[in-house]
Amino acid sequence: MVEADTLRERYAEEFTYTAHLTSAADAILVNAGATHPRSIWLNSLRPNGRLVLPLTGLNRTGWVLKVVNRDTGYAAHFISSISIFPCVGARDPETARLLGDAFMSGGWAAVRSLRRDTHQIEATCWLHSDNLCLSTVDPGA
Ligand SMILES: [Zn+2]
Repeated sequence: MVEADTLRERYAEEFTYTAHLTSAADAILVNAGATHPRSIWLNSLRPNGRLVLPLTGLNRTGWVLKVVNRDTGYAAHFISSISIFPCVGARDPETARLLGDAFMSGGWAAVRSLRRDTHQIEATCWLHSDNLCLSTVDPGA
């Protein structure tokens, strides 16, 4: 029954997100701690649209990421620290662990972009997981 409950919860969230994101958005503010942006959030951003998203590790603490949809890619940088409740439907345990480790290791101020292309981990990947890559490469204007 856990699987059925999880599926029902997942579909309910998709319905909620879809209902609220039926057109392109200039700005999306997520007010809960995720481990990665949902595809629908990034796909819904207009050119120069902004996504403000708290990214948190296992202990509900982390940093708020600002993402801008530029022609050249997704510019991204952290704007402030945060402690916030989890965002149901936008959390992955492995990415949460990696985020916690990355925040502890520092270097978060060097993040300049969010990559969505499939690639192997590179030296410029500040955090690289199956569903999130934060890179130190500036996507340009
Ligand atoms: Zn990467």
